[in-house]
Amino acid sequence: MKSEKRTLHCICCPLGCEITASLEDGQVVAVCGNSCPRGEKYAREELTAPQRMLTMTVRILQGKLPLLPVVSARALPKERISDCARALRRITAKAPVRAGDVIVPDLLGLGVDILASRDMDHI
Ligand code: SF4
Repeated sequence: MKSEKRTLHCICCPLGCEITASLEDGQVVAVCGNSCPRGEKYAREELTAPQRMLTMTVRILQGKLPLLPVVSARALPKERISDCARALRRITAKAPVRAGDVIVPDLLGLGVDILASRDMDHI
């Protein structure tokens, strides 16, 4: 059995607690240093299946601005964030758009929609 300890900083709030996790054969068996339950959940996910929200901009046609801010509807697997960003660079939305509109459904088959994060009126 392989045992190891990993230290990470919780990113769920500005306190940034330093969390130490004990792993056995890659499985988290204990977590300490977190000041609330969110820290334990974060550490367990980060060490087994890390995920991140994706925020960026895509081009938009006939909008009042040339770029539209977008956000993933929920967190995506961290190892796919670069692929997702690359795919979104090829996307062009079309104005008008309302905040929350789906700009790309089911991005890369990951089951996560990409949503407009603001309204964008037509020129
Ligand atoms: S463990 Fe809780 S209190 Fe500490 S940084 Fe994470 S969310 Fe904030």
